[in-house]
Amino acid sequence: MNVSNRTGAEPAPWVVIKFGGTSVSTRPRWENIARIAAAHRVQGRKVLIVVSALSGVTDLLKRIAESGSDELAARGAQAEILRRHEAMLGELQATSRETIDALFAQLDRLVADPGRVSGALEWQAQVFALGELMSSTLGAAFLGAQGLPTQWLDAREHLVAQPLANQSAWSRMLSATVPAAPDAGFERALAARGEAFITQGFIARDPEGRTVLLGRGGSDTSAGCFGAMLRAQCVEIWTDVPGMFSANPRLVPGARLLAQLDYQEAQEIATTGAKVLHPRSLGPLRRAGVPLVIKDTNRPQLAGTLIRAVASDAAPCVKAISARKGVTLISMETVGMWQQVGFLADVFAAFKHHGLSVDLIGSAETNVTVSLDPSENLVNSDVLSALAADLAKVCRVKVIAPCAAITLVGRGMRSLLHRLSGVLAEFGALDVHLISQSSNNLNLTFVVDESLADDLIPRLHALLIRADALRAEDGAIFGPSWRELEAAGAPPPPAAWWREQRAALLDLAAQQSPRYVYDLATVREKARALRALGCVDRWHYALKANAHPAILRALHEEGFAFECVSLAEVEALRAILPTLAPERILFTPNFAPRGEYVAALEAGVRVTFDALHPLRHWGELLRDREIHLRVDLGVGRGHHDKVKTGGATSKFGVSLDEVEEFRALARHAGARIVGLHAHLGSGILDADHWRSVYAQLASLAESFTHIESIDVGGGLGVPARPDEQPLNLAALGRVLDEVKQAYPQFALWMEPGRFLVAEAGVLLARVTQTKRKGHVHYVGIDAGMNSLLRPALYDAWHEIVNLDRLDEAPAQMVQVVGPICESGDVLGSNRRLPECREGDVILIAQAGAYGAAMASRYNLREPASEIVL
Ligand code: ASP
Ligand code: MG
Repeated sequence: MNVSNRTGAEPAPWVVIKFGGTSVSTRPRWENIARIAAAHRVQGRKVLIVVSALSGVTDLLKRIAESGSDELAARGAQAEILRRHEAMLGELQATSRETIDALFAQLDRLVADPGRVSGALEWQAQVFALGELMSSTLGAAFLGAQGLPTQWLDAREHLVAQPLANQSAWSRMLSATVPAAPDAGFERALAARGEAFITQGFIARDPEGRTVLLGRGGSDTSAGCFGAMLRAQCVEIWTDVPGMFSANPRLVPGARLLAQLDYQEAQEIATTGAKVLHPRSLGPLRRAGVPLVIKDTNRPQLAGTLIRAVASDAAPCVKAISARKGVTLISMETVGMWQQVGFLADVFAAFKHHGLSVDLIGSAETNVTVSLDPSENLVNSDVLSALAADLAKVCRVKVIAPCAAITLVGRGMRSLLHRLSGVLAEFGALDVHLISQSSNNLNLTFVVDESLADDLIPRLHALLIRADALRAEDGAIFGPSWRELEAAGAPPPPAAWWREQRAALLDLAAQQSPRYVYDLATVREKARALRALGCVDRWHYALKANAHPAILRALHEEGFAFECVSLAEVEALRAILPTLAPERILFTPNFAPRGEYVAALEAGVRVTFDALHPLRHWGELLRDREIHLRVDLGVGRGHHDKVKTGGATSKFGVSLDEVEEFRALARHAGARIVGLHAHLGSGILDADHWRSVYAQLASLAESFTHIESIDVGGGLGVPARPDEQPLNLAALGRVLDEVKQAYPQFALWMEPGRFLVAEAGVLLARVTQTKRKGHVHYVGIDAGMNSLLRPALYDAWHEIVNLDRLDEAPAQMVQVVGPICESGDVLGSNRRLPECREGDVILIAQAGAYGAAMASRYNLREPASEIVL
């Protein structure tokens, strides 16, 4: 990584390396610090090490600071602090303990001080400062003993906080601001003294020379200040995570490491909840143009997150979703506010008076609601009731707490709004207290009850990826997921078959293009994986996904029955498999004409009805027939609105409130209902879905007399984007086993389509032309939406590679488009491909399902042909 930003010809550059609490709490960690510092020294850099207190020590000091009249509690915490540092002294085998003993004595004096009972702010700052003073003292001794002479600096001699206008006394002392800027004099003075230093994070002095703090987590800010003052080559924040993520990885294991961010985006993410970096650390670095890298102490080989000025060439995109908890909302209601001069001035004067800085603001005709961020304010009940009392003079006040502010962060947020409908729909179902869109166009925030946040974040993260708002597949911005990083060392998933068949595929493409190529081995492998589940009594292949004869034959050999949705499908199937028993064909039409039912029933095919009309009007066809009933369970599921097949707005199935009438009509016609069926949609990756479908159908079936089989549909998803997790088949087996045991009297049927064939097919096409318009690059190929409709119809995402240049690094971000006269003829947008040339073979993966099956002759262009490998 080249992070050099220096223009001047100054000698030995500086690097500031900051280590957080866990990174300074054991001897191996200190050995690690010594290694990192030594590596910089070897590169000729001067090093300033900034350290936090040992992990947990600031919290212990807080117990002392807040002990009030409880001296016992204070003494207990003090003893624990001593024990922790004694243990570290032993581990580090430090020889001299003079300085640390002086700090212990200081702590003892402070605990005895009357300031403790009153909790005087000045006294608190001195107490808190001891954590970093102690850790840096231990560190200096250890590094010296390791042959890395490191001078100890008192950060308070160099970082001077400036009080801000209207700042509360609390934040002036405990959450102070240091306006750090490049300081050549300081740099020269330090350079004259030596080449390696260690100092404390978190602490500074005020203009009167008193010790002040930079707010919890403020050691990052110290590193930022020193980095700016020294105009360092780089500031490295060494911590226990690999960088910033697209969401809190503890809630979202699929959250992606953010490989690079510009200062503003990183600032928003830090401000809106990510704990990995203190929000105030970036300002000084941005102004001084010093880059910052977040690195993982345990995995130094990972690149981490690089934050600097250059914006990447990426399209506007959501980079992260963050949440801040502990937010307090103040809602102020007045009947007369509308256009009343000075109302807002009066209201905000009260906040100013109480030293509270307001974060978000929302206003309506008679209401203004603002939020108070706990990290910027001391928000306790005393402060709030004093504020409320003042506000009550001008309006009706309501305090809503605790809330969570959920923020989408990304440059160009306003241009993304059209992609956010799914996200907005999630919020639509909740009580949202406040919505705010930042004027810098970098964030969109929703304030909801705090208890909702943890469930919401994973859902929103998945929706953002699906909506292409968070372009997780862009490797220049998004690194590996947390889950992948945790699994590092585990064997990688097997490569797709087409990588191994590259040479054969290139030959096929040279003969003819565009063309679909199918790999039957993959079809059989999927079929066997499903049959191995055991608990399903009959598998049907939904042949609408791909009716290629070779695939039908292979699945027949694998023991699959078939599900058809048109008479033409039934006829094609019977022509290809003449020996297939008609009762192994399940015909599930929707709004088909009468004739199709007549023909199917006469052929002895099993027919599923999904409306009352056929029974009401064509009842004479059904005398003594066995029929199946498709029910609508009232909800749809799936990867896109257009594939949801449940709920009143979808045209499929008999709604639950009409099931009784359906039974009466069947009885009247003399038909027996022997099977119940439901299919809620496609692309479902969560095994639990089929548990609930089965359970609902089975309990419904118990009220019928002749039900033999329950068909829980298909919809088994195939992960498309690199971040999606495959459907867990073992889990599917477990849930089906479980429900099956509860209802052993029914045969369990399923009817997957896509699952069996999607990955078995690829679409090969050749580059026709390339083009640039403005900053948008196009790669044209000879296959369009008439060959593969899914991207245009469902916003489906298919992996796209240049098969001729598989090993070349991506060169630019392109739109992969076809030759059809439609703006929607885009097969993949914002893909990073190597430089493409005319004639190159492009491969579109996972095209085995609903590819050729949905093709058309639109524009009178022949769609891609099909061939089996
Ligand atoms: N030790 C301080 C804290 O825990 C500062 C820091 O670690 O960044 O808040
Ligand atoms: Mg921290």
